[in-house]
Amino acid sequence: MKANYLKLHLALSIVFFPFLLSAQESAETDSSDSIAITILIVFIIVCAIISGIYNFFKKRRCPHCKRRFCLVEVDRKSLGVVRTRQIKNPDGTYRTERDIRYQITKQCRHCGGQVTFKEVCRASD
Ligand SMILES: [Zn+2]
Repeated sequence: MKANYLKLHLALSIVFFPFLLSAQESAETDSSDSIAITILIVFIIVCAIISGIYNFFKKRRCPHCKRRFCLVEVDRKSLGVVRTRQIKNPDGTYRTERDIRYQITKQCRHCGGQVTFKEVCRASD
């Protein structure tokens, strides 16, 4: 879920980027407006990077003893396929790509505390 939050941030930045650029073009006569839009674009990108770094560390931190990079995966349970799609290979054949939701349990190497979360992973065959 936290990785999805990051993806949402990045997707929003990418979706609004062309819109902001076109707004910047039309406002070229007013330089203070284009500066404000440039600052807004930089602000959105910086926010996306900061939330990405924050999530990266938060996801790898033990919630019990607060140590970082100590969680080891001990269990992974499939909760079913979320989405299926056909992808065309360069040679003309098709392969199936599936987004599978997992319930993942990780255990801390230091205190033995467990944390369980859900994550969507992509698999193709
Ligand atoms: Zn711990």
